[in-house]
This record gives sequence, C-alpha cells and structure tokens, in this order.
Amino acid sequence: MAKTFTGSILILVLLLIFCFPIGLIYLVIKWQEPSGPVNFGAPAQPYQQPPQQYQQNTGFCQKCGAALEPGAQFCQKCGNRQQ
Ligand SMILES: [Zn+2]
Repeated sequence: MAKTFTGSILILVLLLIFCFPIGLIYLVIKWQEPSGPVNFGAPAQPYQQPPQQYQQNTGFCQKCGAALEPGAQFCQKCGNRQQ
C-alpha cells in the first residue's frame, strides 16, 4: 500500500518535473510570438495618415501652384479642378 502510494507520488513529481519545462518553453514561445509589428516600450501609436493632400485640397493648385482655400474644388486662379 505504502509502496504504491509513494509510487504515485513519484509519478506525479516526475510529471511535474517533465511538464514544468515544457510549460515554461510554451510560455516563452507564446510570449515571444508577437514579435512582428508590436514594439515593446514604445507607445502604441495609431497609424496616422500623411497630410490629406489628396482627399482634401487644402494646399496648392496642382496646375499653377496657387494657394487654395480649404475644400475648394477649383483653383481660383486658373480654374483647374482639384482632386
Ligand atoms: Zn491653379
């Protein structure tokens, strides 16, 4: 009786000894997995689009280079349509 009891404990201990490093390795692999775009330490910045020169024509005329009013569809100088 006592012999089987110690035997089962030995099996348990062996299981623990075997499972512990496996679990550790699994954890380490899991931990290191998202090593692609994730930057540790650096604050996660949402991707900011460059100045919206294409969507909103708050810049200069593509044809003559005159300053455009925000949201202007056409250049006030040469009449070129802004895209
Ligand atoms: Zn123009």
